[in-house]
Amino acid sequence: MVRRLGLNAEGYRGERIDPRWVQAECREAAARHGWSVDYLPPDSLERVAFHRPACAVGAPNFYLSAGIHGDEPAGPLAILRLLEADRWPDAHFWVVPCLNPIGFLENTRENGVGIDLNRDFLSPGSTEVQGQIEWLTSLPQLDLVLLFHEDWEANGFYCYELNGDGRPPLAESIIEAVSTLCPIEHQNEIEGRTVDRPGIIRPGSDPASRPRWPEAIWMAVHKSKLIYTLEAPSDWELPVRVDALVAAARTAFKGWV
Ligand SMILES: [Zn+2]
Repeated sequence: MVRRLGLNAEGYRGERIDPRWVQAECREAAARHGWSVDYLPPDSLERVAFHRPACAVGAPNFYLSAGIHGDEPAGPLAILRLLEADRWPDAHFWVVPCLNPIGFLENTRENGVGIDLNRDFLSPGSTEVQGQIEWLTSLPQLDLVLLFHEDWEANGFYCYELNGDGRPPLAESIIEAVSTLCPIEHQNEIEGRTVDRPGIIRPGSDPASRPRWPEAIWMAVHKSKLIYTLEAPSDWELPVRVDALVAAARTAFKGWV
């Protein structure tokens, strides 16, 4: 049975991953399955990115990123699992497994100079986010964006949904799928926001109300109308959190129409 480890106190205290190892494994799996390999600028940060074109004309554009917070190892491992399994819908994919490798080396949420990259997207001060935006700007508009995260304080899995075009929401089916693998956060308020349904936050996407933009808001302004921030509870065993993120992604792929 899945159980709470009870390790986390004032931060994440669980297992760590080596960003060089996870990116090398991702690279090997991606290359094996015919993906093209790229690096986000600047090259010195050694952040791999993968692309796979769709077969059908008019197929949608999907983007996945993980590892923007260096104390959230389940996201990069979930991307690795997806790349190794190589079961994708027919979509164009852009995938970045580890946005903040220095954070992973140091087991910190922030980068090497204390910047929370996921609050740095309005006027970026970090080389990580500057380089990521340079790369993202070269991509087409994205039909689905999945951002893999973990929350060390959470009592269960939850997600944020930004659905600017009022498309059929995917959050309910994501939560239902994950609930068979991992507890769902039961609080009515998560990170200061009132939940819409258990485990589902539908925040306003008005960028003017967000002085410190996360990746999701940059995406909402520049690239996509359908964005999910997926939050695994990092006081549970690592394989459970990886399973939860993988199931959430697969459910989103399946439900996207
Ligand atoms: Zn995070």
